[in-house]
Amino acid sequence: MPAHLLQEEMSSSYTTTTTITAPPSRILPNGEGKLEKTALHLDEEIRPEIKDDIYDPTYKDKEGPKPKTEYVWRNIILMFLLHLGALYGIALVPTSQVYTWLWAFFYYVVSALGITAGAHRLWSHRTYKARLPLRFFLIVANTMAFQNDVYEWSRDHRVHHKFSETDADPHNARRGFFFSHVGWLLVRKHPAVKEKGALLDLSDLKAEKLVMFQRRYYKPAVLLMCFILPTFVPWYFWGETFQHSLYVATFLRYAMVLNATWLVNSAAHLYGHRPYDKTINPRENVLVSLGAIGEGFHNYHHSFPYDYSTSEYRWHINLTTFFIDCMAALGLAYDRKKVSKEAILARAKRTGDGSYKSG
Ligand SMILES: [Zn+2]
Ligand SMILES: [Zn+2]
Repeated sequence: MPAHLLQEEMSSSYTTTTTITAPPSRILPNGEGKLEKTALHLDEEIRPEIKDDIYDPTYKDKEGPKPKTEYVWRNIILMFLLHLGALYGIALVPTSQVYTWLWAFFYYVVSALGITAGAHRLWSHRTYKARLPLRFFLIVANTMAFQNDVYEWSRDHRVHHKFSETDADPHNARRGFFFSHVGWLLVRKHPAVKEKGALLDLSDLKAEKLVMFQRRYYKPAVLLMCFILPTFVPWYFWGETFQHSLYVATFLRYAMVLNATWLVNSAAHLYGHRPYDKTINPRENVLVSLGAIGEGFHNYHHSFPYDYSTSEYRWHINLTTFFIDCMAALGLAYDRKKVSKEAILARAKRTGDGSYKSG
């Protein structure tokens, strides 16, 4: 059989498997089951490439005593020092040059895109496809953000979606605001995260040379892109003091991108409405969307993780979608997945908390 036919054969059988293994809880006993199964089939059909970011409600925490929390002191100390540096950076903001503010803001937006358009929407969820120049830009931007390499970030993120709010979720929001915000990075992972994370299908990431390249050279690349370059530019090009360059453009900017991203895991899992699915924890949070350039529509995103806009809407408080659409206009992004209005309405009606407003 020619290779492309074989591939077609394999991908069609893969699609069928996706449908059959749909979470059983969504197939309702009251006769709507068949209908729902069809809708789900259509939903997931828009992105058959991966299925390990789809919520699995059948997974439950193991009974018995919880393992002891093991602190990672190196991370605790580094995180503390970074935030101390960022606080000092705030004090230096008024005496910084305007160009330094603009540079820090530019660096904030680009590194945030490396997370939102890159690690999140492209690599974790495969909600759209990107050509090499765009993927190259995103991997550089992602390195500027220094939130672990794309491979690790995506593994943690897929397991977060699949086993949300259980021990296998790396930033399980049931363990409180602080844990889901930053605490999870300061302690050893729960054994369930490692166990379930190791079983995930990450073959798409392993097969992508650019992702593996970043992983191999991650440490020196981060040193250059997250610390040296943002400090060097203001100091060298417009004569900013070394102190202002380091504390404002580097430490303050880095800490702000980190916290904006972390708020998606903490605040957007605790505060806000659940118009699409009241049975899950993630919520719609406009403030989080502002800081995390479009990632606060979190009830929608956990309900439809394959939608490239991570929101029912496109450009509404969503700079990341605007960016992806611009890239699409340039021919660098394509195959953007969007859930149909009908599927959204049906879902909101069936599982929403009643706060859904159409229009
Ligand atoms: Zn989440
Ligand atoms: Zn996600």
